[in-house]
Amino acid sequence: MSEECVFCRIVRAEQRASIVWEDDLTMAFMDQRQFHAGHTLVVPRRHLLDVRELDHATGAALMAAVAHITRAVGAAFPNQGLSVWHSIGAGAGQEVPHLHIHVHPRRPGDGLLRVYPSLAPQPDQATRDAYADTLRSYLDSRQAAFPLPSPGD
Ligand SMILES: [Zn+2]
Repeated sequence: MSEECVFCRIVRAEQRASIVWEDDLTMAFMDQRQFHAGHTLVVPRRHLLDVRELDHATGAALMAAVAHITRAVGAAFPNQGLSVWHSIGAGAGQEVPHLHIHVHPRRPGDGLLRVYPSLAPQPDQATRDAYADTLRSYLDSRQAAFPLPSPGD
């Protein structure tokens, strides 16, 4: 837990939030911004910066909660689609340094979350294979560090 973290304060009920879901490991509440009604955040109770710090149990609980909340938002609020996203670090626009998954109703042409500012290059198969080699090499060198730590480690 972090003293200063606004989401930890919500988890500890020291900060008012419009809570829609909680279990032993996760919580969901309405985002302060409602570009389309229904924008909800799903967080682990533990103060984790992002998905890279997840242990298996918390990760499983978080993904189950995301699925649960996404079904609810999709059924309860007008939409023609939904976006589910997680940002890590300043380059991705993460504003609160406590892992959170956004669940957001979408409509065609609403201008939210444009992924590519211009046409994305599509490198040839050899280049994509080389990128995959880079990742596999990293994953192979980290085998000893997998599986991830348990809660409380
Ligand atoms: Zn926190």
